[in-house]
Amino acid sequence: MGRRLLVVLAALGLLAVPATPAPGSPMGSRVMYLTFDDGPNPLFTPIVLRLLDQQAARATFFPTGRTLGLFWGDEEVQDLLDRGHAVGSHSWVHQRLPDLPQADLERDLARANAALEARTGYRPTCVRAPYGITDPGVERTFDEMHLALVGWDADPEEWSSPSIEEALAHVRRWEEDGMVVLLHDRKWQTIGILRALLERYAEEGWVFEPLPECIPESARAGRSATRTAGDSPIGGVAPLWIDGWSALGWAHDPDAPDGGLEVVVNIDGQPQSVGTTGEDGWFVVTGADLGDLEGPACLWVRNHGPVREDAFLGCHRRDLQGG
Ligand SMILES: [Zn+2]
Repeated sequence: MGRRLLVVLAALGLLAVPATPAPGSPMGSRVMYLTFDDGPNPLFTPIVLRLLDQQAARATFFPTGRTLGLFWGDEEVQDLLDRGHAVGSHSWVHQRLPDLPQADLERDLARANAALEARTGYRPTCVRAPYGITDPGVERTFDEMHLALVGWDADPEEWSSPSIEEALAHVRRWEEDGMVVLLHDRKWQTIGILRALLERYAEEGWVFEPLPECIPESARAGRSATRTAGDSPIGGVAPLWIDGWSALGWAHDPDAPDGGLEVVVNIDGQPQSVGTTGEDGWFVVTGADLGDLEGPACLWVRNHGPVREDAFLGCHRRDLQGG
């Protein structure tokens, strides 16, 4: 780690071990928050995840509690979080929440929270209302449960089977820095729209981030607490933009409680070891560690346990200007 980077990290308070790395923003980049509702879907969600990785994009997923229980266990949810995505509540069974008696509303939301917490290790901190429909009573209940309500700016309406161009034209109409885009990981339509949207906006220098209100301070500790001996490691990476690209990450493997996990970066098919995690689990990768290689940096942490695979910590763009 370079001396100047150490100084800057110290100034940012990042060496004081933040609970969750806070993503930095490249200079001049606009941020888009992609959100995916109603998953997970065994067919479409993995395709969505691959498309996001290809463009080094991060997003926020709002699965219903019931669908989550049907299709995803701890490993899938931890993998989603390892890649830098966030999750929030979309209720248990996708009813119109204002129609529910108060007791049923609270039971539905508590059940969805419990399903998420069982897999993530922390209580969700954000919610998207089914159909986007709320009323003052529902919103008061969200407040009481410490769930930040997430709406959207652009809705390409995949249900109406728009052409890709129609869908992108819709996003264009609502285009502004920090915009939230509503999509669904349960339809073929979404795949083509997402691919075109990522390509077009990445080319224009936009970055795609998870919603900060969906990532609690307790995320790292809560996630780490879900792991037991023999499990694969978990972790997270946030790009920093200090003196160009660098990345601050952490990883936890219950089989290596004192750190020392090998960090591997793969750029354009060339894997190379770039160091190990410290005792506190943190690591930093700088542009200098990566030499002349160009392209997104995809990171892994090697598993110390006996059985499962390494943890994939997502792909990260390096071609933007530091700010
Ligand atoms: Zn929905």
